[in-house]
Amino acid sequence: MENSESYNLTGATLAEIEALAAEFGEPRYRARQIYSGLYRRRLRDWDSFTDLARPLREKLRGRFTISYPETVRVFVSSDGTRRYLFQVEGGQRIESVFIPEDRRDTLCISTQAGCAVECLFCVTGKLPMRRNLTAGEIVGQVLALQEDRGADSKRLNIVIMGMGEPLLNYDNVMKALRLMTDPLGLSLSTRRITLSTSGIVPGLQRLAQEDLVPNLAISLNATTDEVRDRLIPINRKWNIASLLDACRRFPLEPRRRITFEYVLIEGLNDAPEDARRLVKLLKGLKKKVNLIPLNPDPWVPLKAPSEERVLAFQKILHENHLTAYIRRPRGNDVSAACGMLAGREYPNEDGTHHPPAIAKAGLTTEGTMSTEKKMFGVEDNNSPAE
Ligand code: SF4
Repeated sequence: MENSESYNLTGATLAEIEALAAEFGEPRYRARQIYSGLYRRRLRDWDSFTDLARPLREKLRGRFTISYPETVRVFVSSDGTRRYLFQVEGGQRIESVFIPEDRRDTLCISTQAGCAVECLFCVTGKLPMRRNLTAGEIVGQVLALQEDRGADSKRLNIVIMGMGEPLLNYDNVMKALRLMTDPLGLSLSTRRITLSTSGIVPGLQRLAQEDLVPNLAISLNATTDEVRDRLIPINRKWNIASLLDACRRFPLEPRRRITFEYVLIEGLNDAPEDARRLVKLLKGLKKKVNLIPLNPDPWVPLKAPSEERVLAFQKILHENHLTAYIRRPRGNDVSAACGMLAGREYPNEDGTHHPPAIAKAGLTTEGTMSTEKKMFGVEDNNSPAE
């Protein structure tokens, strides 16, 4: 553990806090009191740790803060979805999305500020990759949400599908997962946590060896390497065959399935032949498919298919006994839907959250649009206004 006056203790493990207690000459059980105060009781200042003697609290205050990502703004959608815009150390903006439903709540959290994967259909991929989030910043999003909403842990599902590719920030994500699921920590059920990846095969192989394995979602989105290369550039490194091979080897508990996410894009991956190929590709896997009609965004030079075409795609999957759900967007009026997270703060005059807002936030898109244009021969009509 760092020896700094302003070290943020959020994200520290029990073992790290035990080492700290030993350094302070305190018995081991003190570490449990601190750990429980941080994650179970969500205490935010050392004075609230009334089970610790005052001199110890003073020592802790002298060296440690208890910080969550700072809430810059919360955007509330007409459907109740809440988009949290956070600022983390260094000034980067990240986002979490809280989606309340009848029987459960879902929190979508980020793992990186920006993303290097550059999926063509995703606004986050248009941002420059700034940095990995620390375990404290990842788990801090959950703590901040619980502080704001008092969200009941038993109703709370966590989806690691926000900004960033979690398997490219492997160690911090795993550390955060352990804090979330530790019965002495946040005590969330592993079964209620889903990690989504764009297909980082070595990360999947590593995850398969862990004693703690969340639900797995694969952002597949194409049925040929030709199309997937364009949609998710890392497919050139780990193609569909190698990705599905890693999925087949992935250990699944009984009754657990891999979710394959399939963003439907007009004219690219929404043809009946795609649906039939998808059935073949996923044969033998324990799976379900989430069909996600593309959420239109001015930064994304692609369109969603018609409702008719989406239903026809689903019908082919159903006829072939493949469980497939159509995921309707939540919170898209506040840029909170799937693929729309970009740290956008200021609504435009028309109430939307378009690229000029990103420019105001000091972010740049340099390089990304030109890559897309080269791939697709897309004209410049969709370029962000300056
Ligand atoms: S979909 Fe995920 S992996 Fe792809 S660019 Fe967006 S955040 Fe990154």
